Amino acid sequence: MTLANGMELTAPGRRSFRFDAGTLCLELLVTGGEGELARWERLHTPGDLAAWIPHSRAGLGDLVQVSAGDLAATLRLRAALQRLAATAASGSRAFSAADLATLNEAAAAPPPAPVIGPALERSWASPVTGAQFLSAVARDAVEVFGGPALDRIRMCGGERCALLFLDTSRPGARRWCSMERCGNRHKLRTRRDRHPAG
Ligand SMILES: [Zn+2]
Repeated sequence: MTLANGMELTAPGRRSFRFDAGTLCLELLVTGGEGELARWERLHTPGDLAAWIPHSRAGLGDLVQVSAGDLAATLRLRAALQRLAATAASGSRAFSAADLATLNEAAAAPPPAPVIGPALERSWASPVTGAQFLSAVARDAVEVFGGPALDRIRMCGGERCALLFLDTSRPGARRWCSMERCGNRHKLRTRRDRHPAG
């Protein structure tokens, strides 16, 4: 799990909003997916993935070199994580063994190697391979799914919103992908219901 931050998301024809997925492995899910999620696909080429990684909380900057094979492995891991996280958010613990195996396979690769420079600056041994990046994502997922954070995986409560996040708030009462978006829509609707027009 990493420090709280977030990323700018934009849906076609809508205002962009800030979304904090709470942890690296769930952050990857905003890049698209299979089935219904395919219309949000952002990772069409290895270059798309390389360009996205600096916006994630991986902390690897633009050091990652992504091959076509890395992109395919990323889409596989992402699909597995999507199913695992949706299962967790629904309250079920019936995880697919095949998806857990996909996760373990990615986690088995060595993660990026930290290095310290002559001025004691911290960085990563470069280039970082796509497999090392995926290892970091998968190891984050092992930590989340294998610990108490599992109960904090949520799906946004907004209508027609399926964004998944880790609720890192102290009370654990986060309901929305973003207050600016689904949170406010809900507030407006509740207000309208209480004070019907006319
Ligand atoms: Zn939402």
